[in-house]
Amino acid sequence: MDLKEAIREVEGFPKEGINFKDITPLLKDGKAFRNAIDAIVNNIKNKDIDIVVGPEARGFLLGAPVAYAIGAGFVPVRKPGKLPWETESYDYDLEYGEDSLEIHKDAIHPGTKVAIVDDLLATGGTTKAVIELIEKLGGEVVAVEYLIELEFLNARELLKGYAVDSVIKYN
Ligand code: 5GP
Repeated sequence: MDLKEAIREVEGFPKEGINFKDITPLLKDGKAFRNAIDAIVNNIKNKDIDIVVGPEARGFLLGAPVAYAIGAGFVPVRKPGKLPWETESYDYDLEYGEDSLEIHKDAIHPGTKVAIVDDLLATGGTTKAVIELIEKLGGEVVAVEYLIELEFLNARELLKGYAVDSVIKYN
């Protein structure tokens, strides 16, 4: 099956001018969900990954089953104030204003081989922030994996030097 058929495009969400890629139809289709996870797993299974990092919230939905499948651990990256233990945080600029992401300080150690898994690559800003957090803790980002990539936004420029893969592409 073509996985793109399981993605719903929603015009004007969350605001005018945005054509949101809704992954919930894919998640509720058992076959499509399994095929999507298998495709991501296939991209990283030979990379000897210790930890999969998934950013809140859709990165949890894809990152955790990928981690399970390859026998790696899973580490969440969250919005401020959600993680209970000591955190490292990184502030980054958005189109309007600022945002911040956090990770537990003891989640990654120097030399840990990490794969980042998220649902969608748009500008790459979120991923860049996640990379900063992992590298601050001494982790090595060996793979950056997405279900969906909006190729026309050229985020790969920002992520130059990292091994980036995506399963479904829009151009
Ligand atoms: P970026 O930081 O690359 O500009 O945006 C990517 C982040 O925003 C991802 O964490 C993703 O979950 C979310 N995101 C942005 N646009 C969309 C979209 O159209 N569909 C989905 N599912 N997530 C999006």
